[in-house]
Amino acid sequence: MATTVNPIDIQPRQVANKSDKRALLDAIRMTLKIQSPAVRHNTQTFNRNRYAAVAKIADYDQLKDHARQIKEQAIADSPRLLKQLEESVVRNGGHFYLAPSAFDADNYIRNVLVQHGVKLVVKGKSITSEEIRLNHWLEASGIQVAETDLAEFILQVADEQPSHIIAPALHYSRERITALFKRKFQTNLPLDTGEELTKFAREKLREQFIAADAGISGANLIAADTGSIMLVESEGNIRMTTTLPPLHIAIAGIEKVIPSREQFGTFLELLPASATGQPLTSYVSILHPPLKAPPFAAPGKQEKPREFHLVLIDNGRSRMREDPVLREALYCIRCSACLNSCANFETVGGHAFGGETYSGGIGGSWEAGTGELMNARFSELCTACSRCVNQCPVRIDIPWLNENLRQRMNQAQSPSFGRSLFGELAGSAPQDRIAPLQKQFFGNYDTFAKWGTTVAGPANSSLESPFFGSVMESVFGVDHRRELPKFPDKSWVDLYREEHRNGAAPQAGDRPALAVFADVFTNFGYPERGMAAIRVLRKCGYDVDLTPSVSDGRAALSQGMIDTARHHAEAMLKVLRPYLDSGRLLVVVEPSVLAMFRHDLCHLTEDQSLFETLRSISFEPMQLVWKAAQDFGLDLRSRFPAERWHHGARLFYHSHCQQRTCNAATETLDVLRACGFDVVTSSVECCGMAGSFGYKAEYYDLSMAVGEDLFAQVRKAEEGEPPRQLVASGISCSEQLSAGLKRPIHHPLEILDGIDR
Ligand code: SF4
Ligand code: SF4
Repeated sequence: MATTVNPIDIQPRQVANKSDKRALLDAIRMTLKIQSPAVRHNTQTFNRNRYAAVAKIADYDQLKDHARQIKEQAIADSPRLLKQLEESVVRNGGHFYLAPSAFDADNYIRNVLVQHGVKLVVKGKSITSEEIRLNHWLEASGIQVAETDLAEFILQVADEQPSHIIAPALHYSRERITALFKRKFQTNLPLDTGEELTKFAREKLREQFIAADAGISGANLIAADTGSIMLVESEGNIRMTTTLPPLHIAIAGIEKVIPSREQFGTFLELLPASATGQPLTSYVSILHPPLKAPPFAAPGKQEKPREFHLVLIDNGRSRMREDPVLREALYCIRCSACLNSCANFETVGGHAFGGETYSGGIGGSWEAGTGELMNARFSELCTACSRCVNQCPVRIDIPWLNENLRQRMNQAQSPSFGRSLFGELAGSAPQDRIAPLQKQFFGNYDTFAKWGTTVAGPANSSLESPFFGSVMESVFGVDHRRELPKFPDKSWVDLYREEHRNGAAPQAGDRPALAVFADVFTNFGYPERGMAAIRVLRKCGYDVDLTPSVSDGRAALSQGMIDTARHHAEAMLKVLRPYLDSGRLLVVVEPSVLAMFRHDLCHLTEDQSLFETLRSISFEPMQLVWKAAQDFGLDLRSRFPAERWHHGARLFYHSHCQQRTCNAATETLDVLRACGFDVVTSSVECCGMAGSFGYKAEYYDLSMAVGEDLFAQVRKAEEGEPPRQLVASGISCSEQLSAGLKRPIHHPLEILDGIDR
C-alpha cells in the first residue's frame, strides 16, 4: 500500500495528517530512513532518566493517585471551574475568553494583536497553538511570529510539525540542525557543537524578544481559585515571553484548569520527573498575570501598560468530556512518559506515530477529540504492549483508549458482504464483522488455530507453500517474510488428557492447588511448553489441573474487536468459574494472557468482583516456582541444577513487555539465578513483535527495526565471549528473536523441565 516515493523526498508536513493510510506508511518509511537514530537516542535517554527520577520519589504511587484524583475532579467540575477562573482573571485585571473552536481562538487572538498594532509576536511553550494553527493564521494577517523555544525555532526554520509533545524537534540530530541552519541562514559561522548552535539561535531570538510587541505562551496548569498559571521550561524563553512584551496572551485547553493553586505542587513533583527525568526543570514560573512589575520598553519604543488575555480553548474538549472513553485523555498532563517508554515511538517518533499536532500513544485520542476520527489512524502503531501504563503519572489506560479508537475506525468502514460472511464463519461478534479481513483474521486466532490443528498435516504443508504465503499476504496482510508457527498434531489439552489416560499424572502434592489456564496460543502453538509448565509445577510440589482451552479475548481486543473480545471473555469466565470455586490459584503461561487477567478484563466483564478475584489469584508459573522456594523451602539449586541443563548455564533472558507491566518478571530471573544460571537480561521496552503486529505486512519493517535494539543487546552481551542460550517468556518474543538472530529460543519452563537430574 505504500507509495514508491523515495523516503528522503518525503517532507514531514506532507504526511502529518494520517487519515489516509498511505501517509502513515510513507511516514514510517521516512522516519525509519532519516529520523530514527536521533529519536531513539533522545527518547531512550529521557526514558532512562525517568526511571531513575521516579525511583527517588518515595510516595510515587500515592502522588499518581492524588494527581489522578485532582484531574478527575477538575474535569467533572469543569463548567463551574471555568466560571470561577473567569472571575479570578477579571479580578486580577486580565481578560478572559473561552473559545468554542480553533477558529474562534485564532480570531480573538488576531483581533487583540491587531487592535494593539502588533507587528511581531514572540511565542513559546504552546502545543495548543499548533492545534489551532495560530502561526499560519497570524502570518496570513501580516503579523510575524517568532518561536522562542529552541526546538520550536528549529521547526519553524524547517517548516515541520512537532514530533514530540515536550521536545518537538527531538527527531533532529545535532548534525542535521547544523546543516539546516547553514542552509537556511546562509552562514559560514561554526555551528558544529550544541553550544555554537544554541548561541546562534539565542542571538537571533534576543533581537526578537526586544523588538516584540506581544508574547504568547501556553500554560501547563491554571488555577481556578487565583487565576495563576504554572509554566515549566528548560530554557528561560517563556519567562522572557511572558514578562518582556507589554501584552501577554496565554492560550490553553480547558482541561488545564484545576481547582486550586495549592494543587500545582503535586504536578510539579510528577511532571518534570515523568518528562525528562529531572527532579525539577530549570525554570518554574507561577504567574499571576497581568504582572505588576514595571513594563519594559525597548530602546526607541514607547512604554505601554501591561495587559493580559487568557484564551481557553474548547475545540472538541467538551465533546471528549461527554465521551466515556475519550474523557480519560483530558486527564493528560502532557509529560511524554508514554511516548518515551514506547518501543514503537522510540523507533519512529511522532512524525510517524503522531498526527498534525499530537503524538504517541495518547496522541490518537487528542487528534480524534480535537479533529476527525480518522486523523487518529496512527494509533494503529499502538500494539497494546502496555509499557506506558505504569509510567503515566495520571494513570491513563492508553492501550484501552487506542483499542477503542481502533473499534471506531473499524466501524466507520462501509459494510461489505465478503467481510461480514468471513466474520460470521470466523467467529466475530455481529458488530465486528465490518472490520477489515486482516483484523478479523488475527482477532479470531482461536478459530483458525483450532481448524489448523484438526488437520495439522495438510495445514502445515500449506504453510510451506509460497503460493499460500502470497495468498495470506494479499488477503489477510500477513507478511510473507514471517514464518507462521506450525500447527501441532496434538494440542496441549490433548497431551494432558493423554497423560491422564496413561495414568502418568503424579499424585496431588501438598502445596496450593493450581488450575493452569490452557490459553489458545500455548494450546495450539506451543503445547510442549504447556506440558513443561505442568511438570515443573508438579516437581515443585503443586497439585495441578489444566482447564479447557478457550479464548480469553486478547486477540480480538488487540484488533479493536471489542464486542468479540467481550464474548470471548464472558465465555472464558464461565469455563473458569468451577476452578475458582474450588479455590485453585490460576496459572497463566503466556504473559499477554496473564495481562488479561491482571488488567484488561476489567473492561470486558461487568462482574468486577470476579475480575478482582482473578487479578489477585493469577500468576505467571515462575512466580509459583519462586514461591515454592521462598515459602516452602524448595531448594532450587538441587532441584534444578543449572549444570545439568545440556545447553549450558549461560543465558540471555528477555522478559515479555506485559509480564513486566504485571510485575511478574523478576521471579523468572530469581529462579534461574537460584538454579545456578549465569543470566544477562535485555533492557528494551518491547521486542517489536507484539502479537500480530509484527506479522502485518505494512508494519513488518517497523517491527524488525524495533527488534534491532534487542538483537543488538544480545550481540553486545556476547562480545568477546562464547554465545549465550537465548531465553524468552513470551511467544511473540521468541518468534521475534528467532527471526532476528536465527537461533533456537528456549522458554524458562522448558529449561527447568529439561534439567536432567
Ligand atoms: S501500549 Fe505500548 S505500543 Fe501502545 S502506546 Fe503504550 S507503550 Fe506504546
Ligand atoms: S498520557 Fe500520561 S504519560 Fe502520556 S503524556 Fe499524558 S500524562 Fe504523560
